[in-house]
Amino acid sequence: MTDNTNFKKELVGCFGDPIWENPSEAMMEAAFNHHNLKWRYVTTHVPAENLHAAFAGVKAMGYKGFNCTLPHKVAVIEHLDGLGESAEVMGAVNCVVEREGKWIGENTDGKGFVQALEEITTPKGKRVVIFGAGGASRAISVEIALNGATHITIVNRNEERGKEIVAILNEKTAASAAYVKWEGDYALPADTDIVINATCIGLFPNVNDRVAVDATTLTSNMIAADVIPNPPNTPFLREAAATGCTTIDGIGMLVNQGRINIDYWTGVDANPDVMRDALHDVLNLGLAQK
Ligand code: NDP
Repeated sequence: MTDNTNFKKELVGCFGDPIWENPSEAMMEAAFNHHNLKWRYVTTHVPAENLHAAFAGVKAMGYKGFNCTLPHKVAVIEHLDGLGESAEVMGAVNCVVEREGKWIGENTDGKGFVQALEEITTPKGKRVVIFGAGGASRAISVEIALNGATHITIVNRNEERGKEIVAILNEKTAASAAYVKWEGDYALPADTDIVINATCIGLFPNVNDRVAVDATTLTSNMIAADVIPNPPNTPFLREAAATGCTTIDGIGMLVNQGRINIDYWTGVDANPDVMRDALHDVLNLGLAQK
C-alpha cells in the first residue's frame, strides 16, 4: 500500500561510463518493489573525471551505497574508509556500502558467481580453467580461490594481464595458479573440473563469436560456466552442453551479485526469481532461454 505521508526513498545506484547498456536497475527495482522497500536504484552516467564529485554528491544526498562499474572499480578505492576481504585481495570494488558512517568497498561479482556455482557444486578442491584476465576473471578467480579451489589456470591473450592475476592468486590465496598464453584452440587438461569463459566473447551484438577451445577436450564430467548475461545461451555454453558438460549461464552470477548488494544495503534477502524475471523481460529474452 502506498504511504501518502512519506514520499522519501532511500537511494542507491550504479555509476559507470558507459552505463546505458547496464540492465541492473530493472532487477534491483523489481526486488525493491516485490519486498515493499522504499528504495530507488538510479543508473547514473559518471565519467572518470567526475567520480570525486559524484562521491561527494552521494554523501551529501544520503545515499546508502552504490555499485560502480568501468572505469571506477579501482579508482573508487582512494575515496573509501575500508575494504572487504575479496575486494582487498582483488584490488577492485563493485559495491560500496555505507556502514555506520564509514564507506566500505566490497566485491560481489565473484561472490555472485560462487553462489551460482554452488547450486551445482562447491569450488572446494576443484581444478579450474578461466579464459580471460579482466575484471570478471579477477573477481571469479579470487573468490573461488578464497572458497577452496586448489588450482587455477588463467588462459589469456595478453600476457601481462594474465600474469598479474596469477601473481595475486599465488601470493594472496592458498590456491596455486598458472598462466597460459591463449594461442589457437586451447586444449583443456583432462583433470579440469570447471571451465569458465570470463571474456566478453559472445556478448551482444557479437552473439555468434566462439571461445577458442578445443571442443574435443570438453568432457561430460566438466562444468562449463559463462559470464555473459546477454544473451545467456552463448556459443561456448551450447558447445559445452553438446559434449555433455553441465552448464551455468551469466544470468545466475548477475542476479546473485545483485542479491548480495541488496543484502549489504538493506539487510533483505531478495527473491532471485523476481530479479531473474525482470532481467529476462528487460533483455527481451524468450521463455525458451529461461
Ligand atoms: P575486461 O575488459 O576487463 O576484460 C575482458 C577480457 O576478455 C580480457 O582479458 C580480454 O583479453 C578478453 N577478450 C576480449 N575479447 C577477446 C577475444 N576476442 N579473444 C580472446 N580474449 C578476449 O572485461 P570484464 O572482465 O569486466 O568483463 C568481461 C565480461 O564479463 C563482459 O562481457 C561482462 O558483460 C561480463 N560480466 C558479467 C557479469 C555477470 O554478473 N554476469 C559481471 C561482470 C562482468 P586481453 O586481456 O587479451 O585483451
